[in-house]
Amino acid sequence: MRAHYPVVVIGGGQAGLSMSFVLKKRGIGHAVLEKHRIANAWRTQRWDSFCLVTPNWQCRLPGHPYAGADPHGFMVKGEIIRYIEDYAAAFEPPLHEGVSVTSLRRDDAGIFQMKTTAGDISAGQVVVAIGGYHVPVIPRLAERLPGRIVQLHSSEYRSARELPVGEVMVVGSGQSGCQIAEDLHLAGRRVHLCVGSAPRTARWYRGKDVVEWLDRMGHYDLPVHEHPLRERVRAKANHYVTGRDGGRDIDLRKFALEGMRLYGRLRNVRGCVLELGADLRRNLDHADASAASIKASIDKYIAATGIDAPAEAPYRPVWEPPPQAPLELDCDASRLSAVIWSTGFRSDWSWIEIPVFDGRGYPGHKRGVTSVPGLYFLGLPWLYTWGSGRFSGVARDAEFIAEQIHPSILTASTGMPERQQSWSRALPP
Ligand SMILES: Cc1cc2nc3c(=O)[nH]c(=O)nc-3n(C[C@H](O)[C@H](O)[C@H](O)COP(=O)(O)OP(=O)(O)OC[C@H]3O[C@@H](n4cnc5c(N)ncnc54)[C@H](O)[C@@H]3O)c2cc1C
Repeated sequence: MRAHYPVVVIGGGQAGLSMSFVLKKRGIGHAVLEKHRIANAWRTQRWDSFCLVTPNWQCRLPGHPYAGADPHGFMVKGEIIRYIEDYAAAFEPPLHEGVSVTSLRRDDAGIFQMKTTAGDISAGQVVVAIGGYHVPVIPRLAERLPGRIVQLHSSEYRSARELPVGEVMVVGSGQSGCQIAEDLHLAGRRVHLCVGSAPRTARWYRGKDVVEWLDRMGHYDLPVHEHPLRERVRAKANHYVTGRDGGRDIDLRKFALEGMRLYGRLRNVRGCVLELGADLRRNLDHADASAASIKASIDKYIAATGIDAPAEAPYRPVWEPPPQAPLELDCDASRLSAVIWSTGFRSDWSWIEIPVFDGRGYPGHKRGVTSVPGLYFLGLPWLYTWGSGRFSGVARDAEFIAEQIHPSILTASTGMPERQQSWSRALPP
């Protein structure tokens, strides 16, 4: 590595590579520093049967749209990794793998100084593209579970085969929790699932993938400042659904009919007894209501545009929790051998010693542009649109940030911003 770069991109996932592609296209000198290997999260934090929830046609990294034979299908883990590897091979980013940035600060002259595991470097501008899922979240009541029970975070789960014989509890019903519960269920395990308030969506409706309808309806172009929830949408759980076996709904009620045990939220651990919330019915109803409301918006769109789409009967719940749904589970009596914590991730920006964070520790930015000249964030969920933290929207955000890093604002000698930019003030709210 050199001692100084005009631009350093931190992170070699799809966001960092996208940034590198657009910088290279503009002839802007830069380096990409990646702690592990490219596509590390897809390699190391996803289970064996993992596949995309978003259809392949939504994989549109800049200069590298999905070109396979199954645009309406859902790539499996190996294909996703290959898609990213092929991307890097096609444009050869100036990539340094195995290099972790351990501290980032800005000196009095406005130059960014980085400590890395390969030595100190500086840069005129920095794009932080390390995703938003840094530290697995496991509630501390996990410490009170009997020691014989194997505990994993969803990012560590690989397959039913790797768990000890016995019944398995999955805590959390977001996308990961529901998909892991299904994976275990299909493998013949008795699954106990603690259902939270995550919404769900149907996979198909009136002849199309719901994602395709929402795309036509402009949902994926809606900027965060026009969303009814504004920035609060960034903290919302994703709708659960799957791309497995060509794509289908995840209907937890159907799983219950087939023998999966559903509960409300995990409230407490008392010895070997798990205390469970009384909110199962409410949470299932809430998930169904969210799916119904998406369908209603599609119906409205179809009616308004006069599209000829087949009608579809409304969803009817196939199972209801019994009036006396169990509020406790005895780990010993149920021969529980493993718990999979599907309780999400949190961000860790502690190594960035620059005052751009808000009261909750989230980086303040407008479309990834911070108030500190030359510092940008890319790849965060809802950075600008729904697709910002996904394959579908990162290209638009990378292009936008690259426009802010236009060569005219880099001096030849240091790569410093030529003037103390106030461009973020000119951006939309
Ligand atoms: C379970 C799950 C399912 C998902 N499913 C989909 C889906 O179906 N479709 C979709 O479009 N999106 C999906 N996503 C969202 C998104 O596509 C992924 O999170 C994706 O990994 C984000 O890419 P990224 O490049 O922004 O971040 P990451 O893939 O997390 O890449 C960041 C990189 O930065 C590196 N890094 C971190 N810190 C440092 C440092 N200090 N120095 C140097 N390098 C560093 C990491 O090693 C990593 O390789 C899913 C996410 C999750 C968690």
